[in-house]
Amino acid sequence: MTEPNVDPDALIREYFARPEVAARTTAELLAARKAAERPEPPLATAVPAPEFPTFGIARYHCPRQCGWWHDEPTDPGPSALIISADQAGADVGTMLSLNAKARLLALHGRVERAIGEHYAAAH
Ligand SMILES: [Zn+2]
Repeated sequence: MTEPNVDPDALIREYFARPEVAARTTAELLAARKAAERPEPPLATAVPAPEFPTFGIARYHCPRQCGWWHDEPTDPGPSALIISADQAGADVGTMLSLNAKARLLALHGRVERAIGEHYAAAH
């Protein structure tokens, strides 16, 4: 909804005259905008890419290719939607995304632990 008799140029001048906007340079504004558009970096992990020898199984081989492997189910089943206290007001999409990230971190933890135990025992 637009208000009648509002000069858009005056609104733009008013916006750029605000102290918090005027103090920033164009380069700073462009850098902030570019940073906001940048996707999240991938998770840092030592988990190798899995192979899928049969339906429902993700197989993680020893990075040294010694023949050892660790299997994980590709579908660990349903999980309760965990709502953290600081995300209580977040929408369902955000909550699902956070839960998926938590499950991925747990998976990486299990695989890294298995590889670590194998390394300690065999290499
Ligand atoms: Zn090995």
